[in-house]
Amino acid sequence: MREDIIRVLLVGFIAVLAGIIFGHTLIWLCLGLFYLLFVIYRDLHQFLLWMNNPKDVEPPDAIGVLDQLYRAADARRKRNKTRKKQLSRYLKRFKKATAALPDATIILGDENEIQWGNKPAREILGIKWPQDAGQRIDNLIRHPELGQIIGNDINLQQTVEIPSPIDPDIQLSIQVVPYGKAQRLFIARDITELTRSNRMRSDFVANVSHELRTPLTIIGGYLESLLDNTEDRQLHKQLGTMQQQAHRMQDIVSDLLLLSRLEQHEKQPSFETVIVSEMLGKIHREAMRLSGEKDHVFYLEAEADLFLHGNHSELYSAFSNLVSNAVKYTPARGVIRIIWYSDKYGAHMLVKDTGQGIPAIHLPRLTERFYRVDRGRARSEGGTGLGLAIVKHVLNRHGAELHVDSVMGQGSSFRCDFPASSIVRQAESDSISQNN
Ligand code: ADP
Repeated sequence: MREDIIRVLLVGFIAVLAGIIFGHTLIWLCLGLFYLLFVIYRDLHQFLLWMNNPKDVEPPDAIGVLDQLYRAADARRKRNKTRKKQLSRYLKRFKKATAALPDATIILGDENEIQWGNKPAREILGIKWPQDAGQRIDNLIRHPELGQIIGNDINLQQTVEIPSPIDPDIQLSIQVVPYGKAQRLFIARDITELTRSNRMRSDFVANVSHELRTPLTIIGGYLESLLDNTEDRQLHKQLGTMQQQAHRMQDIVSDLLLLSRLEQHEKQPSFETVIVSEMLGKIHREAMRLSGEKDHVFYLEAEADLFLHGNHSELYSAFSNLVSNAVKYTPARGVIRIIWYSDKYGAHMLVKDTGQGIPAIHLPRLTERFYRVDRGRARSEGGTGLGLAIVKHVLNRHGAELHVDSVMGQGSSFRCDFPASSIVRQAESDSISQNN
């Protein structure tokens, strides 16, 4: 700044001096001013040329404010360069890491267009890189279930399982994870082996259960006739216990068979219009019988014209499991409410009891097979440990979800949430049956 002031003063001094010597001081001052303006514009033009020069040249020599400008711009340029280098190093590292991933990984833009894909993406999804750059992923991989995860409301937990577009024998599990401002990582994992071993496990359990069914029925039959013909009280008691255990095994076997049937994903259940209020009426009557001496107080509230598009026998199993759990785990004279209602989110089946409650720590694992909060109690109540696993599977197959709330000592509530799309109103169902 000092240099600039000196320069202005110097030019002014020379102009005044020239005015004194040659006369016309004002004209000399104007000439001095024009000279200063010319110098400023020339320097600015030079600065602009330097700034726009893509080559990284050192700033030219300058004085005053211009010199400071050069220095500040140069420092910023250098900082940006280091940052750019760092970023491209990160990018290279990221690309190397994703390229090394065994899962097919694709970077999608906000329009679901492909921005980059790794090697497995080529091998199991058939994405050609760079030819397919800019193509929408749903144009290249066509599957109705894909829409669920590349839509706008991404659920990070959600995965869909679809066959590979280039080899239907390869089964893929697909997940989409948002990152950055509007980008998404599309990850496809080859789960062919996992699916195969799950199928083998499920087939094994189904076969064993099937094989056990006949011997158990025979044992049960003999025990019954022995019980009928025994006078000895001690023996009668022992046979009674044996029969009870045989029934328990039969229950486990039939629940296992039901579960493995539900697990066969591709076998979608046949759907019909289910009159849920009638179904709940029947379950309610059975629950009252099951309650027996416990003398529970039941309330049933059900929207009579609210029907469901679903599989009757599967829904029956799920709902009756929830209600019979409420009966099993609610002390005598407790209250059990069964409510079937709809709201703007969909249809809901709620079972609420005033039982012992479930500690929060157990809630996330309740639907695992054979998971029990209180092993001894569950066994003595005759539970198989498979009821809630069945409920979860049935709900999955109906696009529904189970929500469990519980307060220790106050009770539990189990709510099945069905999407609005599975609701059938009585009027609609009448017109469907008339059309048929
Ligand atoms: P089980 O046949 O043992 O009842 P479930 O899968 O139906 O198996 O339930 C798993 C566990 O969840 C039960 O063992 C029990 O501890 C707990 N549970 C289920 N329903 C209730 C309820 N209404 N109140 C308290 N605990 C419950």
